[in-house]
Amino acid sequence: MKLSKQPDPTGHFGPYGGSFVPETLVAPLQELTRAYEHARRDKRFRQEFAYYLREYCGRPTPLYLAERMTRELGGPKIYFKREDLLHTGAHKINNTIGQILLAKRMGKRRIIAETGAGQHGVATATVAAMFGMECVVYMGEVDMARQALNVYRMRLLGADVRPVAAGQKTLKEAINEAMRDWVTNIRTTHYILGSVLGAHPYPMMVRDFQSVIGREARQQILRKEKRLPSALVACVGGGSNSIGLFYAFLRDQHVRMIGVEGGGRGIKPGDHAARFQKGGSLGVLQGTRTFVLQDENGQIMLTHSVSAGLDYAAIGPEHSYLRDLKRIEYSYATDSEALEAFQFCSRIEGIIPALESAHAVAYVMKHAKKLRGTIIVNISGRGDKDVMQVAELIQL
Ligand SMILES: *Cc1c(COP(=O)(O)O)cnc(C)c1O
Repeated sequence: MKLSKQPDPTGHFGPYGGSFVPETLVAPLQELTRAYEHARRDKRFRQEFAYYLREYCGRPTPLYLAERMTRELGGPKIYFKREDLLHTGAHKINNTIGQILLAKRMGKRRIIAETGAGQHGVATATVAAMFGMECVVYMGEVDMARQALNVYRMRLLGADVRPVAAGQKTLKEAINEAMRDWVTNIRTTHYILGSVLGAHPYPMMVRDFQSVIGREARQQILRKEKRLPSALVACVGGGSNSIGLFYAFLRDQHVRMIGVEGGGRGIKPGDHAARFQKGGSLGVLQGTRTFVLQDENGQIMLTHSVSAGLDYAAIGPEHSYLRDLKRIEYSYATDSEALEAFQFCSRIEGIIPALESAHAVAYVMKHAKKLRGTIIVNISGRGDKDVMQVAELIQL
């Protein structure tokens, strides 16, 4: 199995992925694929990418031994990959840096993006500001109200945040609106997609940009432990921080990989965002074929997670493929387990994780006794953005 040679030239990961888009987007996506294939082979592009990751974002991020958590849980030796220490507070900037460099190379001067919780919008507005490009971010009206601080942050950074009033007024509708803009302004505009989702080449390209996480972690653990870890654990929204950590280890057969989805209030229709649990089945959503939470008629189900970054009906197509191959295992953590992990990690390590990342920590807390050896948990982001929300749920 050539696990690390996916996707095929048409963007398929086995039966998943591909490109399901209106006719008007076919040529632009092909142009983007060609430009990316060219860039990834260009040493100057790779050096420029590495330069900004280092000088602007703060890479490499530490691989930190969580000593007290290790002792407290009495199971495996636990390391944290500290993506929370990056500029703007999460892994998302790895991808937005890569894509804006590509946009620049393609001669595009206008950037658009969609955002749910606002984290990807902030990471996009940040790099657009740094490169002096015009930036428009589409965001559902409901999300704008919930994430007012991030809306203000994007505006401070000079982005034009446009409210989307259709449907549920959240992420899915914002993506549709961004696609519409892209079709209309294709000559001047690059669409920076925020996770390993959408049509080819996005799932491949975003994975490649995020795979710096695992390349670093692999070197760091070999230096510290002189051996590979027994397991890797990461939360899975669209799937970019997890595949970013896992990718460099795919061929290391003895390294277990565990993706943790948002279990919400429990696995009942409309109450969760775990695409590989009950309610998830093969479908097509927003450009790609993959596991989707939908009813028997193919209607997209409502989803719920306490963590906005995990609250989406589809999972990246490469995850569906690696699950079929049994290379990655998938589990979930519920809202209340994640909230408990959020507090536990804060108190015991002095690290307030993003609610998304708290799902990965929750998995480790729950299964510590069954895990062995050394594990790496991806702390995909910091929890500052979530503090107000948690304060309403938990009285201290
Ligand atoms: C957006 C986000 C996620 C979920 O997205 P993935 O593409 O699955 O990584 C996870 N953690 C943080 C901190 C995020 O901002």
